[in-house]
Amino acid sequence: MTSIQVDVAIIGAGTAGMGAYLAARKQTDSVLVIEGRAYGTTCARNGCMPSKLLIAAAQAAHQARHAAPFGINVAGISIDGAAVMARVTRERNRFVGLVLASVEAIPKESRLKAMVHFQDANTLATEQGQLIHAKRVVIATGSIPVLPPMLRALGTHLLTNESIFDLPSLPKSLAVFGSGVLGMELAQAMSRLGVSVKVFGIGGGIAGIHDPEMLDYADNLFNETFYLDASAQLESVKKSTTGVDVHYLNKDGAWQTEPFDYALAATGRAPDVARLALENTGLALNDLGVPLFDRDTGQCGNSSIFIAGDASNEIPLLHEAADQGHIAGENAGRHPDIRPGLRRAPLAIVFTDPQVASVGLNLKQLNQHFKGRFAVGQVSFENQGRSRVLLCNKGMLKVYAEHGSDMFLGAEMFGPAAEHIAHLLAWAVQARMTVSQMLDMPFYHPVIEEGLRTALRELNHNLHNTSENIEHSMDCGPGT
Ligand SMILES: Cc1cc2nc3c(=O)[nH]c(=O)nc-3n(C[C@H](O)[C@H](O)[C@H](O)COP(=O)(O)OP(=O)(O)OC[C@H]3O[C@@H](n4cnc5c(N)ncnc54)[C@H](O)[C@@H]3O)c2cc1C
Repeated sequence: MTSIQVDVAIIGAGTAGMGAYLAARKQTDSVLVIEGRAYGTTCARNGCMPSKLLIAAAQAAHQARHAAPFGINVAGISIDGAAVMARVTRERNRFVGLVLASVEAIPKESRLKAMVHFQDANTLATEQGQLIHAKRVVIATGSIPVLPPMLRALGTHLLTNESIFDLPSLPKSLAVFGSGVLGMELAQAMSRLGVSVKVFGIGGGIAGIHDPEMLDYADNLFNETFYLDASAQLESVKKSTTGVDVHYLNKDGAWQTEPFDYALAATGRAPDVARLALENTGLALNDLGVPLFDRDTGQCGNSSIFIAGDASNEIPLLHEAADQGHIAGENAGRHPDIRPGLRRAPLAIVFTDPQVASVGLNLKQLNQHFKGRFAVGQVSFENQGRSRVLLCNKGMLKVYAEHGSDMFLGAEMFGPAAEHIAHLLAWAVQARMTVSQMLDMPFYHPVIEEGLRTALRELNHNLHNTSENIEHSMDCGPGT
């Protein structure tokens, strides 16, 4: 077996790895992308895209069921589970196909299909023993689902994000373990599609929300439509003849055993680095076995190894993986002339309904770095004009700014159109805008963004103690 010599080897052909390849190729022609599993990326195959396709079907069902308050009667709604999953598969395959086309565009000699690990900092080995000698390496191996011991013996009745989208039809019932982002998105979608869902979380978190008042609000709202215990007490989860039996303490304080068709493990994801034998590289590793690295350059210590995407465990989101991949690939290509790349304002969105969004600094970070030095403005969407018109008047938005400088620092939202409002706010954070500069921007009428303006006005008032009268419900009157 002949060994391979390259300038840059990239481990993993996901979003980060493909970004790294394109960036490294601008610096050198000698680049090899190594992929151990199916091409197509986690995002397209079993992450962002199939989950959003399922959520879109759920949203259609929800809207059909809730048309009556508008005077529209939609009779005889039924959900064809096989057709729902067929569309998820069809569209998912289309997205995967687009990724595969970009993989095909990489010259054959720049691709290797193999699982690899480090023999030393500049040598990778395949399971068959082929060696790759690389002057520089980018680790872009992504993340894998974490399975708590209680769930491991459930066999084919245990689902993860890697299997749930391959179901031929919708199950009748689903026990979701984990009330984080992934668990809440899929639980609500399944519930709206007619699946009997119960969510068992640990530690009280819901969809990554930080603000305690927002967390309580979300807890109550989700519980109106499906069972959610974010601090569940579980005795056992066992395989049965038809699925799984969950023995848990219910909200009335009684222990009960309940059967479900499937269990979904939404219990977190860990960086996929354990098989890389990173101990052979001499790099300093953290508790999770991830190399210590510079977030602006992707470089691990002073080495010729770079890291990007979920493997870095920094911010496991698609746009961050793409940015990190680009930075790590470019620097691996130009090493030792390393340069910091663009890191954007923090932005995270959860596609529940209402959506959750976090922008800039979250409450925990504000209390760490700006304790006693930041002001809060907020708005409830319950009486917000446009939200009432659309009958999506649930939730709240909180916005944060620094006393003295008036600098806008961040926001958290559980409410309508959060995916759009969060972008406006992230752009404001990145542009380092003050609250008064944001209030100088145009706001149309009637739009959900008028709710944002109300929150910003309250924030401005709290920064300056102005005598401004903040109108919380009516956007049609004077003073808009
Ligand atoms: C259900 C779900 C929903 C999500 N929704 C969103 C969303 O709405 N928005 C958002 O921004 N993000 C979302 N994400 C997160 C997003 O998908 C990830 O952040 C992103 O895909 C990570 O890309 P990556 O390149 O780091 O990893 P991946 O795309 O997973 O690529 C890593 C690759 O490395 C390969 N590999 C691993 N080890 C080796 C080895 N030793 N040798 C060779 N190859 C190896 C793997 O096979 C894999 O192909 C979601 C994730 C999930 C699971």
